[in-house]
Amino acid sequence: MISLVIPLYNEEKLVDELMSRCLKVLNEIGDDFELIIIDDGSKDQTLEKLIDRKENEKRIKIISLSRNFGHQAAITAGLEFARGDFVAMMDGDLQDPPELITEMYILLKSGSFDIINGKRKSRKEGLQKRLLISIFHKIFGNVSGLKEIENVGNFSMFNRSVLLALLSLKEKIRYLPGLRSFIGFKQGFIEYDRKVRTDTKSKMHFKDLLALGLDAIFSFSKTPLKICIFLGIIGVIVFLFAGIYVLIAKIFGFALLGWSSTMLSIYFLGSIQLIFLGILGEYIFRIYKETQNRPIYFVKEIYD
Ligand code: UDP
Ligand code: MG
Repeated sequence: MISLVIPLYNEEKLVDELMSRCLKVLNEIGDDFELIIIDDGSKDQTLEKLIDRKENEKRIKIISLSRNFGHQAAITAGLEFARGDFVAMMDGDLQDPPELITEMYILLKSGSFDIINGKRKSRKEGLQKRLLISIFHKIFGNVSGLKEIENVGNFSMFNRSVLLALLSLKEKIRYLPGLRSFIGFKQGFIEYDRKVRTDTKSKMHFKDLLALGLDAIFSFSKTPLKICIFLGIIGVIVFLFAGIYVLIAKIFGFALLGWSSTMLSIYFLGSIQLIFLGILGEYIFRIYKETQNRPIYFVKEIYD
């Protein structure tokens, strides 16, 4: 059995095309499938349209969340419901072609891989977004120590062992592409061109992408802390020499009433400390979030 998991948030314009294309692909692979759609608290007609489609196709399952919990939480909800031997997940905005699932399935079936990641050969989004995303992938790839994470997003398919591994990771702040690389297994890649969203706007605003990027970096690396320590050590060395100079100046009597140097060191040290406190704060916030142990999402209703 195959499960396809798709999160949707205010995608009423795309629902029909999405359902048709996904059902077509799934039907071509075989009869035994489930199409799990998570309605992530949409405020438009997404849920109604989905329920409509479900009338004619019982293999569509809809999980309606109690409010908008975000992309990664919504996919997690879908994965927890998936019963397939092979599970695919993808965004519902048709930027990733559902047709690729056939190829992913064939590769998985051949048994040489446990996970097939869709790897974006090209992106058609605006220059600014592409630039930011590629900067993020570069930084993340370097600081996380995860292999082959560059240009890989949610679009992927894997077997049941991988699904169980992913679900056993109980952290609340989840960056699934990172987790999927972290768990290991035999990872395969399929390259494809990422389309531009056809007529609708991205549901992730710049600040959502930034938050996702920061979550990814803070939950997979201690590089920010290392930067603090590194700069701290440099600061200590610099001020050691500065201190020696000040003492010598005092002893030999050429110390000036140094207003500028005092002010500068206060500014410098003050701002560095603030940055470090902020970085520590980011980690503490995440520890706090994890210890609160709140569920990642709440289900309002399941249409099965
Ligand atoms: N999405 C979601 N909850 C959200 C935001 C987005 O379920 O809070 C869904 C959205 O409907 C789409 C997918 O997640 O199917 C990816 O979102 P989007 O295309 O807006 O993100 P981007 O491609 O810009 O990163
Ligand atoms: Mg998108």
